[in-house]
Amino acid sequence: MDADPQPMALEHDFSGSGRAKAQARHLVRSWLWLAWVDGLEASKRLFDLAAAAGAGAATSPVWLPMVLASMASGRQPIRRWSRIGRFGEPFDELRLQLPGGKAGELLAGAGVDRLPALMNVLRGDMSMVGPRPADPQELRPGDVVSRRRQDVRPGLFNAFWVRSRTNVDYDPEFDVDREYVETRSMKGDLGLLARSALTAFYGGKVVDTPDRITIRGIPVHNRTMAQAVEELVRQLDAPEPTRVCFVNADCVNLAARDAQYQQTLRTADYILADGIGMKLAGRLLGRPIRQNVNGTDLFPRLVDALKDTHHGIFLLGARPGVADSVREWIVARGAPDLVRGTRDGYFRAEEEDEVCRQIKASGADLLLVAFGAPRQDTWILRNQPRCGVKVAIGVGGLFDFFSGRIQRAPQWMREAGLEWTWRLAQEPGRMWKRYGIGNAVFLARVLSDRVRRDEGSSQQGRVRCEP
Ligand code: UDP
Repeated sequence: MDADPQPMALEHDFSGSGRAKAQARHLVRSWLWLAWVDGLEASKRLFDLAAAAGAGAATSPVWLPMVLASMASGRQPIRRWSRIGRFGEPFDELRLQLPGGKAGELLAGAGVDRLPALMNVLRGDMSMVGPRPADPQELRPGDVVSRRRQDVRPGLFNAFWVRSRTNVDYDPEFDVDREYVETRSMKGDLGLLARSALTAFYGGKVVDTPDRITIRGIPVHNRTMAQAVEELVRQLDAPEPTRVCFVNADCVNLAARDAQYQQTLRTADYILADGIGMKLAGRLLGRPIRQNVNGTDLFPRLVDALKDTHHGIFLLGARPGVADSVREWIVARGAPDLVRGTRDGYFRAEEEDEVCRQIKASGADLLLVAFGAPRQDTWILRNQPRCGVKVAIGVGGLFDFFSGRIQRAPQWMREAGLEWTWRLAQEPGRMWKRYGIGNAVFLARVLSDRVRRDEGSSQQGRVRCEP
């Protein structure tokens, strides 16, 4: 060592701009390293930074005045919530302190209190998309499922939340998270964000709601998917037979101009709310529908519940050969003896007696009838006693889906509440009236019921107030 060491260059120059440059270099280097090891993680991080900064700036007219107002009145603007992050690392999720009363409720409903979590995203505790940040108390130690969700950063938006808003949250949250962790992609995340934006119209997760809701004069049993499956299975052993109808927006419209169908629905033992239209109707009426209990999502769950029991199904309806393909689907699902008989839905009126005899002789106690509404429902009303089955359900186009004859909408469309647009695109000639016009007519009718109800109750109030 002969000469004095040179003064250290930039790396050790801790003057303001030098430090910023060093930090920027460190960031770029670590990102490049990440991109090399894990491309998805790197692009996600880059996207998170841009999206959180953009969203933070765009929403600043909302949160900034609130923060300033809190500070001016000497209150803490931000609350901290303990959360478990990636790799089980604890962190504090930041939430805005909202004002009390109605204004606070409204702001919370719009998710305004969660805006500071964008800061968590910038800091890298969270991501735009990922499993809901878990409370330390809710995690079960040693549980593989809850550990699996910690392989990724928790997110501001998550798949389970979207599903609960479109009423298709049938599977437990942690299972949905595990599926997310195992299949995630940049494209999937972007799709999920788009769906989250769409679901703003549908209202939140249903918490407290009555067991029965009347929509346009039709008494709907308000059930979750799991409750519906359990009750249907229980009815198979009940002393009295049960007649079941699925009702969607189109059925309600049909019933409005078909008195016989209206009566068939009103006297049914069990009516389940099918589709996003019913969810919106429940919301408009202030009586939220618990879940979208449609036949197509219920069917595999029902088959699973009936596997290895003494019960048997008869499949009646659809074009020749279709019900047999559904039987094959059920066999492949692991229930080889569940189907006791099948028959297509194109028989003459004179053959009706024989069809009923065939069903009775099969020994099935559950009958699925796929003729489409309203025919299937009036047929069941007329013939169930002769068929000797405990439970009969009208299932519409269900057999076409499970036989593979008609492709069902992809999962992301169902999660976005857009299954009806898929059916519209598949059969525009037949469906444009049903969905294009029918949905709007349905919602307008429900809204007018709501207005009438409100007017009625305010008038009643006035009468009561009179001396
Ligand atoms: N169908 C039947 N017999 C008939 C008319 C129709 O079995 O006389 C079947 C048809 O093949 C289809 C189902 O009924 O499988 C009706 O499906 P659609 O899509 O109309 O039912 P949705 O679910 O829309 O009520």
